[in-house]
Amino acid sequence: MRERFDVIVVGARCAGASVAMLLAREGHSVLLLDRGRVGDDVVSTHYVHRSGIRRLDQWGLLDDLRATGCPALTASRQSIEGVTLEDVSGPDRRVAAYGPRRHVLDGLLARAATASGARLRERTGVRALIRTGPAVTGVVATRPDGARTEIEARLVIGADGANSTVARLVRARAYRELPALTCVYYTYWTGLDGPMSFTVQDRRAALAVPTHGGATCVGILWPRTELPRIRRDIENEYLTAAAALIPEFAAAGTRLRRTERFYGSANQTGFFRAAAGPGWALAGDAGHRKDPITASGISDAFEQAAMLAPCAHRALTGRQDTETALRPYWTARDAHHDVPYRVAHVLATLRYPPRVLDAMRRTFPVEETQGILPALAAVLLGPRDASGRAAR
Ligand SMILES: Cc1cc2nc3c(=O)[nH]c(=O)nc-3n(C[C@H](O)[C@H](O)[C@H](O)COP(=O)(O)OP(=O)(O)OC[C@H]3O[C@@H](n4cnc5c(N)ncnc54)[C@H](O)[C@@H]3O)c2cc1C
Repeated sequence: MRERFDVIVVGARCAGASVAMLLAREGHSVLLLDRGRVGDDVVSTHYVHRSGIRRLDQWGLLDDLRATGCPALTASRQSIEGVTLEDVSGPDRRVAAYGPRRHVLDGLLARAATASGARLRERTGVRALIRTGPAVTGVVATRPDGARTEIEARLVIGADGANSTVARLVRARAYRELPALTCVYYTYWTGLDGPMSFTVQDRRAALAVPTHGGATCVGILWPRTELPRIRRDIENEYLTAAAALIPEFAAAGTRLRRTERFYGSANQTGFFRAAAGPGWALAGDAGHRKDPITASGISDAFEQAAMLAPCAHRALTGRQDTETALRPYWTARDAHHDVPYRVAHVLATLRYPPRVLDAMRRTFPVEETQGILPALAAVLLGPRDASGRAAR
């Protein structure tokens, strides 16, 4: 006899583990599957905005994060072509941003999901879906011993990343697709004493994020068109850009120690995909991705989990079919990400016309409590285009 759950969540990282936790807390039987292992790392820097940390706080997980020894990023410096974006001198710093390593953060979330009652199966990859008529009613997966297993559920959530198997199998329609504009390399340093910083200068961007164990993750983004040249000498290109954009990097001299290899990524195309259908939904990068320049995929995944869980709960307990019950999630997701998606794309051009730079000088810095995004949207997209439109 086949096993049966209310919900199967495919992918146990920031999107999947979060939504599994929330649905388990609602009392649903949840199976959380990942073809990898909890505690594996993933190619991604890991700045989590205050909005994302607020979600962890709301879910009762902020103390767990603090207990991992990850430093609170109470100080930050963010500038574009010499214009300082944020005034962080104000008194209202209730929740700081953090930069937890992904293997730590994702592990914490997966444990929170199991502590809430979800069942976790690692090294279990989903290969196919079970259908009853048009509705998805389960998954076919490969267990760690190689055996094939069929598991039924009333709802299958694909939180399996940008190359989502679930999205492919349900033929989720992609829309508002955008080409990749940047490429990025990052690694970890000790001996770098500086705040979290984000700098765009001379067609390069640098992100420095203090993390566990006194290390700082430093990522450099270039226009993707420069990738062939950068690949020829990654270390030299990286060091030149880091020293030019991060004053503390240039000043650290022989104190700097690189503790890991370089990690890179150059295929960050942007897209939205259909968010839900009969018996299925997508969360996190599986359903929406933007250029990593705004470092927001993790915070976005938390937001989507928070939007999806109540709709999924209604789908599982109410009289509506899943497609109808999940439609508000789709609408809310697209509205929420519309402006940030367009801002990320324009920011990722790393080239801003003089009128935009003039507008930046007039607008910034904004107070921390106001948030950078609305001001950045008005400057980069124009005031009229900076309101959400969520076109599908
Ligand atoms: C270079 C780079 C830098 C970035 N920097 C930041 C940053 O600083 N801050 C930020 O917020 N975001 C950043 N992002 C974005 C962030 O990494 C993603 O948005 C985030 O990882 C999405 O999480 P997710 O849970 O949706 O998917 P993923 O993290 O991709 O996890 C998907 C999981 O699904 C599993 N899976 C896949 N297929 C299957 C299958 N068939 N069966 C079972 N399991 C499966 C995988 O093993 C994986 O564990 C960056 C991205 C890149 C590439």
